[in-house]
Amino acid sequence: MSERIFIGVAWPYADGPLHLGHIAGAYLPPDIFARYHRIKGNEVLMVSGSDQHGTPITIKAEQEGKAPGEIATQYHQQFLDSWRKLGISFDLFTNTSTANHAEVAHDIFLTLLHRGYIYKATVSQPYCPHCQRFLSDRYIEGTCPYCNSSGARGDQCDDCGKPINPVELIDPRCRLCATTPQFKDSEHFFLKLTHFEDKLLDWVRQQTHWRQNVLNFTISYLEQGLKDRAITRDIEWGIPVPLDGFEGKCLYVWFEAVIGYLSATKEWAKSSGDEERWRSFWQDKDVKSYYFIGKDNIPFHTIVWPAMLMGYGDLNLPYDIPANEFLTIEGRRLSTSRNWAVWLPDYLSRYDPDALRYLLSVNMPETGDTDFSWREFVRRNNDELVATYGNLVHRVLTFTYRNFDGCVPTYDDMGAINKVIPMDGRDVRLDNLSLTVLNTIYADNGLLYNCNFKQAIKMAMAVAHEANRYLDEKSPWKVIKENRQAAATSLYMAICLISRLKNMLYPFLPFSSQKLHELLGFEGSIEDYGWRSNTPLPGQKLLEPQPLFSKLDEGLVAEETSRLGGVHC
Ligand SMILES: [Zn+2]
Ligand SMILES: [Zn+2]
Repeated sequence: MSERIFIGVAWPYADGPLHLGHIAGAYLPPDIFARYHRIKGNEVLMVSGSDQHGTPITIKAEQEGKAPGEIATQYHQQFLDSWRKLGISFDLFTNTSTANHAEVAHDIFLTLLHRGYIYKATVSQPYCPHCQRFLSDRYIEGTCPYCNSSGARGDQCDDCGKPINPVELIDPRCRLCATTPQFKDSEHFFLKLTHFEDKLLDWVRQQTHWRQNVLNFTISYLEQGLKDRAITRDIEWGIPVPLDGFEGKCLYVWFEAVIGYLSATKEWAKSSGDEERWRSFWQDKDVKSYYFIGKDNIPFHTIVWPAMLMGYGDLNLPYDIPANEFLTIEGRRLSTSRNWAVWLPDYLSRYDPDALRYLLSVNMPETGDTDFSWREFVRRNNDELVATYGNLVHRVLTFTYRNFDGCVPTYDDMGAINKVIPMDGRDVRLDNLSLTVLNTIYADNGLLYNCNFKQAIKMAMAVAHEANRYLDEKSPWKVIKENRQAAATSLYMAICLISRLKNMLYPFLPFSSQKLHELLGFEGSIEDYGWRSNTPLPGQKLLEPQPLFSKLDEGLVAEETSRLGGVHC
């Protein structure tokens, strides 16, 4: 029975390049998950887009003397390029400037307004007398009232992740001129979150399959009590409030961006030629909806978006929100303003995508922060990808290619040639072990199904390690001199193992897995074969072997580390 899976991925602000923190936090995990479901034959829709509105974009545009739309378009193109190079396989990566998105956002706003879940109120808003403008969101900074961090903004504190109302900021100042703002009356719309408090708490308490960090954060947040939140801003750049008398006001970027999950699905449906097809992902109760985000986005996806969906009605609520923790860089907290970051376009201009995908997978910040260092990058690439997995593949393929006419050899007695490995107090045959691991990774309710990415890739690499030991023990390059058939059989076994490895590793390392798929003589895409299809047939023609990965020079560690914290151009 195939499943239908909706995957919503956090919408990156189109105000700068992506960095490794974004990738480890929110972009690599959904891609692994989507590839896993696709190779299983499930129907996947993975969508996201660039968030082109809000103060991050207008601030960047003002700094560079450009129009906000110009900045947004520039980075949107760059994102598309990065996804292609890193292999992040969106079904649609759109943006929030489309007419379709504005239409869907207006529909949700007006529906919630008519049902009484949005109301109008006059509020006092920060206003800079020097700049003569209202200071929305990032235009105002100060100290966080919750955690005392000094860099909190008018919409959120990056340190503790809590949304903030500007009036709550301690020592507020204008970001542009540092003047202490005055507060002036302005009419705005509010989302009645208080109405949904009990309903949300009931719902969240049932989500026992959520990651502990996500569940605990959300429950404690709800237990502290919700406040209604303003969902409009005094700002020109964004989706206008669709009512007369509110000129110069736009929907708040957070209210509008989460609607992107729905609007992107509608856009995808339209371009598929069946406009109503979006319903199959949003109204069929059997569809599971996953949202992949970094931990700074948790409340918007576990509270605000579900409240909006409850208010609108007849749309699926999130099934799971496997938010990741943060990635630190060389032991320090990532900071884009101090250029303490590894930028994805820079990385991709110098190194292979699978090397990064490997490191970020084995070191994924699933349950706690993890660190990226260039030394670790080189070590894992050279010792694990190249030495353990890549060399295994290369040894097996080159020796077979040379000695068996470039074809998969014919085996005889597999039982005699197997290797027995003691595992959990019992003896397991290596071929069975590899199948068990493949199954543990892929099965329904298995590791990838439950977003245990780190554990899955580690188990696959353990099989690669055992396969190397098997090959050393059987030494077909020696045995072939006395017993050609015994050598052929052990090579056949090794070929089965590497073929299963490519399937286990496919969601993580799609480029090298596809390459190995072709080297093994399979035609077409690995995804079309499916994860169970893993055994090359004797006589199958191999392609001329090529190494899957390249060894990296230790010297790059010093060179790359020295770029950190410098001027980024
Ligand atoms: Zn804080
Ligand atoms: Zn000012």
